[in-house]
Amino acid sequence: MPNTVPPSNPPTTRPDAGALSALRRAEPCFWANPDRASNLPTALPAGATAISLGDTKAAVARFGRFAALLADLFPELGGSGVIESPLLPAPALKPALGWTEGKGALWIKADHRLPVAGSIKARGGLHEVLEFAERLALEHGLVAPGDDAQAYRALASPQARSLFGRYQVAVGSTGNLGLSIGVAASALGFQAVVHMSADAKEWKKERLRQRGVRVVEHAGDYERAVAAGRAEAEADRFCHFVDDERSLSLLLGYSAAAFHLQAQLEAAGIAVDADHPLFVYLPCGVGGAPAGIAFGLRQLLGPHVHCFFAEPVQSPCFLVQMLAGEGGHPSVYDQGLTNDTEADGLAVPRASLLAAALMRPVLSGCCTVRDATLFEHLVRVLDATGERIEPSAAAGFSGPGLLTGSPAGREWLAGTGLDRVLAGSTHVVWTTGGLFVPPHEYARFVERGRAGLAAHAV
Ligand SMILES: *Cc1c(COP(=O)(O)O)cnc(C)c1O
Repeated sequence: MPNTVPPSNPPTTRPDAGALSALRRAEPCFWANPDRASNLPTALPAGATAISLGDTKAAVARFGRFAALLADLFPELGGSGVIESPLLPAPALKPALGWTEGKGALWIKADHRLPVAGSIKARGGLHEVLEFAERLALEHGLVAPGDDAQAYRALASPQARSLFGRYQVAVGSTGNLGLSIGVAASALGFQAVVHMSADAKEWKKERLRQRGVRVVEHAGDYERAVAAGRAEAEADRFCHFVDDERSLSLLLGYSAAAFHLQAQLEAAGIAVDADHPLFVYLPCGVGGAPAGIAFGLRQLLGPHVHCFFAEPVQSPCFLVQMLAGEGGHPSVYDQGLTNDTEADGLAVPRASLLAAALMRPVLSGCCTVRDATLFEHLVRVLDATGERIEPSAAAGFSGPGLLTGSPAGREWLAGTGLDRVLAGSTHVVWTTGGLFVPPHEYARFVERGRAGLAAHAV
């Protein structure tokens, strides 16, 4: 990774100046993207290529071809082979978040319940492993183009497993991506290797080892774990490295969620149009998951969907990247921040350039949240809904308050005219992980959140 120069200060007249100074002080902030376009071409630049909704449809179709095989491999899918999460109404959470009337409806997209991987990483991670397995299977004649889901069940045969067993699937991860890739790859018979940073949680390493995944621990942060894994894999033709910072397959796997959410919104009778905007709040690490979903939603639902990324105040790498603009690739360290956060799914110092390029004309904005607030949100969610989420997954709950309550958020709402239709709007907070958090760990999160809430109460 080359050393990058921090971006020069934007002139103080830029609308970004307020966000930049709050970001450097590690204070929660709201930033609206001045480059968002109301009209988009059908294909958008994503790294060295361009992607369209057709690529998202291809990912949806791939999940479909593998559904019967996934149902065979993962009994927890209940025979359906569909890895999806519910869309939950959350009106009871509004008072706890301090909502006043007239701000719209609140829903939770419950990826914290996603089976197999226990987090949003089930989407991208599974997709990339399936795409790699499919390529090998086609090359070796185990399946043929046009085969259906029944034919794909052959990929659990001893013949297929011995083919896959010759290959290694490797990934660098803070935890959740490793869980997803490791579990999916080893279930298909691949050798699975997960490079983890020092800050990865012990229970995640243990869960992987129990499934026969080799865990390699690296001193230093997430970025170093990825770089080490990438270097080891480049030297080996039988190794497929899942590159969180550069992978289109991951991103497209995430984007497939847009089709499912569209169906859920329709089933719930939720319109998305000029009078009924949809605000979606997505926790952001390197940016691949939220960018894939935002891309899919924007292409599928049109300009009245507004996606906001939520990041910890010490790890706002995506906001840093959006403020720097194209050409630069600064890290949060360059802004004097530490990248220290309990939100391990979001503890990333530098954004994916692929995700940043894709989001430039799509993203509506970013917001940041303190760690202490994450734990308080986690408790509010538990008390109001009974749902158990991990700290990373709580980041989006600061979004609606910052959008409707901060000066920068209100200014953006007034400037876009959205303030006039707020009452008819829908806010979807994407909760991205939690299913596999061990009870003792979760109890500690709750304790910390309750202590924080009690301190505010006095
Ligand atoms: C990975 C992760 C995210 C963000 O995904 P990125 O692709 O890194 O931006 C959000 N929440 C959780 C729980 C995660 O594990």
